[in-house]
Amino acid sequence: MTPPPAAGPTDDVDVLVIGAGPAGLTAATYLARFRRRVLVADGGAPRACWIPVSHNLPGFPQGISGEAIVRRMTEQALEFDALIEPGRVEALERDGEGFRAQLNGREVRARAVLLATGVIDHHPDLPGVERAIERALVRICPICDGYEAIDKAVAIIGRDDGGVREAAFLRTYSDRVTLIHVGPAEALTEEDELRRMGVELIRAPIDNVSLEGDRVTALSWGGTFRIFDLVYSALGTAPNAELARALDARTGENGCMIVDARQATSVPGLYAAGDVVRGLNQIAVAGAEAAIAATAIHNVLREADGWTVA
Ligand SMILES: Cc1cc2nc3c(=O)[nH]c(=O)nc-3n(C[C@H](O)[C@H](O)[C@H](O)COP(=O)(O)OP(=O)(O)OC[C@H]3O[C@@H](n4cnc5c(N)ncnc54)[C@H](O)[C@@H]3O)c2cc1C
Repeated sequence: MTPPPAAGPTDDVDVLVIGAGPAGLTAATYLARFRRRVLVADGGAPRACWIPVSHNLPGFPQGISGEAIVRRMTEQALEFDALIEPGRVEALERDGEGFRAQLNGREVRARAVLLATGVIDHHPDLPGVERAIERALVRICPICDGYEAIDKAVAIIGRDDGGVREAAFLRTYSDRVTLIHVGPAEALTEEDELRRMGVELIRAPIDNVSLEGDRVTALSWGGTFRIFDLVYSALGTAPNAELARALDARTGENGCMIVDARQATSVPGLYAAGDVVRGLNQIAVAGAEAAIAATAIHNVLREADGWTVA
């Protein structure tokens, strides 16, 4: 037997990684260093690039922007000859023991696939919301940056009891927390809990958001307006799991992938890592899951090739 060949430009790859966010890029580095032919296909605009500055990523005490994280991870994967190609995988099918994917008008065959496709955020439907997210005035993830909300006047936009849970989480950081419930009245069942925690409740659809300097100067509804230091959106996310669903892979209640301890989905040879998997949406988690998946994939392929000892 000869050792496995190093990566090279071919449409027959060992592993197709779908998505070049922190999960896909971590897996690419691991797989390339395992001397696997790995191709990463990426539809662009990873969620990670929305991060203005992350302060909770281990190893970056002064913080680092999402774009810089993705840039560094991309450089690292390329350093070891992973192939990274812009373009969406439009379809994924079984092909014998492996898979066949449609990418940029051609077919790519892979022995294993890692789905690292992330999620889509449901942003509040407000003018200027994208600019506000870039400036960290409208935020998505209190686990990521609740610490930077200490003692601030915080509003949470929610449309169900998810908003109540986010308000409860933010009470660790501030005693000036307001939940603005924009959903149907019956979707909010935990009003007593809000009272108990000292969280103000406003039931109103927001019609505008104004930004000034480093504050959200006003959220307004029907002529009324209030000033907050920052706003959290608790409107949730939708996983990019269509490719896996088309293969009948098992998904959870919210549509996220269900995987085992090695990140394997219910479809043999199909693995998943990062936000698309049920669990905590964090870069550190995406990286850890990708490392586990990449190692599991390499070991399965080694075994298939007779490169293991019983
Ligand atoms: C505003 C904001 C702030 C955040 N702050 C922090 C923080 O401080 N700390 C932290 O740990 N986390 C933070 N997060 C969460 C973090 O961004 C995610 O946990 C992380 O990006 C998940 O990585 P991922 O690789 O799973 O997905 P993503 O980064 O979303 O990457 C997924 C990639 O898959 C691609 N893709 C999807 N479908 C296809 C397809 N069919 N074909 C090809 N490509 C496809 C997409 O185009 C995308 O590039 C924040 C998120 C947001 C929105």
